Amino acid sequence: MRRIFRRQARKGFAGHIPPILQEANLAFDKGEYGRAGELFEQIAQTADARGGPRAPLFHLQAGHARIYAGQTALGIPSIKRGLSLLAERQQYQRLIQARRRVLAEFKERGLNEEAAAIDAWLKSISPESSEIDTQIPPSKKPVLPTHCPQCGAALRPDEVEWLDAVTAECGYCGSPVREEDS
Ligand SMILES: [Zn+2]
Repeated sequence: MRRIFRRQARKGFAGHIPPILQEANLAFDKGEYGRAGELFEQIAQTADARGGPRAPLFHLQAGHARIYAGQTALGIPSIKRGLSLLAERQQYQRLIQARRRVLAEFKERGLNEEAAAIDAWLKSISPESSEIDTQIPPSKKPVLPTHCPQCGAALRPDEVEWLDAVTAECGYCGSPVREEDS
């Protein structure tokens, strides 16, 4: 199993992981949030300029890094850009999850006014939340490795794209990731 997966992964992806992405993920993991924010902002702008499918995630990650770094004012534009791209592209499932995470993080840090402002803004640009809240994500998911073996991104089970029942796609580099052999 493992050998097959490695071969597939290598065929499609090895050599195509941008070093800046690995660097950004590493900085984030080490708690160097200001640095991670800077790097993700660059990655996000590049992806955004060419309409890349991962631009929303990169913007959001830039925003999260800035929030973790205590740089709220720098983080909010990235978060808004990420959320509005998801709304524009009608990726409502992702939008719900991203909104949930953003609001929880803001409230955890006592940023209640900012959370309320973002939520109000989001309601003005996207459909009724009652409409999108009814979508239920798949319930049973395999356990993924904590980090993408290709680019080093932390993998959040609710943020990856599931290709089939056991394979997810890393949202940052597009590599397929499978449940770890136990
Ligand atoms: Zn990856």
